[in-house]
Amino acid sequence: MVVYLVGAGPGDPELVTLKAVNALKKADVVIYDRLANEEILDHAVGAEMIYVGKKAGSHYKTQEEINQILVEQGKKHNLVVRLKGGDPFVFGRGGEEMLALLEERIPVEIIPGVTSAIGVPGTIGLPVTHRGVATSITVVTGHEDPNKPENQVKWDFKADTIIILMGIGNLEYNIREIMKYKDPTTPVCVIEKGTMPGERIVTGTLEDITSKNIKPPALVIIGPVVDIYKQIAQKRD
Ligand code: SAH
Repeated sequence: MVVYLVGAGPGDPELVTLKAVNALKKADVVIYDRLANEEILDHAVGAEMIYVGKKAGSHYKTQEEINQILVEQGKKHNLVVRLKGGDPFVFGRGGEEMLALLEERIPVEIIPGVTSAIGVPGTIGLPVTHRGVATSITVVTGHEDPNKPENQVKWDFKADTIIILMGIGNLEYNIREIMKYKDPTTPVCVIEKGTMPGERIVTGTLEDITSKNIKPPALVIIGPVVDIYKQIAQKRD
C-alpha cells in the first residue's frame, strides 16, 4: 500500500520523469486533475482512472472529497498514483493530500515534476536567474483562495525575478499591486500554454501588459531577466 504523489510536468508529455512513467506503468489506479495533456495517462495501461479535476470553471470535487477518495483508494490498492500538473508541491495542494494520507497511516512517496514556474520559461530560453542580473526568484499565486479571511500575499517582493502562477483572472489587480513597489517600465513576459500547441509568448512592461489580451493558462514573469530572454531570442532568429 503506497500512494505516489506524482508531478506530470507543464504540458509537453515528454517533460515527465522516468520515475513518474514507471509509477504509472505499475499503478492500480490513477487519480488525476485536469492535465495540460492527457497523453501521459497512456502509460498507465490497465489502471483504473479517477478524474477529480475541475469541470467547466467550477470545482468538480472539494479538496476534502479528494482527500477522502485518496484515502479510500490508498487503503484498497497496492499502488495508487495521484497525478498533478507541474510539481505536486508547487501550488498543487500536495502537502494537504500528503497530510490527509499520513493521518490514515497510508505511506506516501513524492515524485517531483518539472514545475511550469521554472520549466516553461526555460523551454523558451528565458533564464529565471542570470549572473549579474537576477540572483533571486519569487514564485507567487495570483489567485488566493477567496474563502481565506484575508489576503496572505503581500506584493512588496524583494526578489529580482517574480513569477506569478494563476495570475490571469486577477491580472489587473496583481500588476497594480506590484507596480506599487516596482518601476512601471519593468519588463514582463507572459507565456500562455507553455510547451503545448498554441503556445503564445507576449512581452511588455508592467504598465502595458494588461492590455495584451492574455488568456490562461499562463505564467507572468517580471524582472530584468526578460531582457536577457529578448537578447537570446534575437540571437536565435
Ligand atoms: N503545480 C503546478 C502549478 C499549479 S497552479 C506546477 O508546478 O506547474 C496552475 C498554474 O500554473 C496556471 O494557472 C498557470 O499559471 C501555471 N501553468 C501550469 N502549466 C502551464 C503552462 N503549460 N503554461 C503556462 N502556465 C502554466
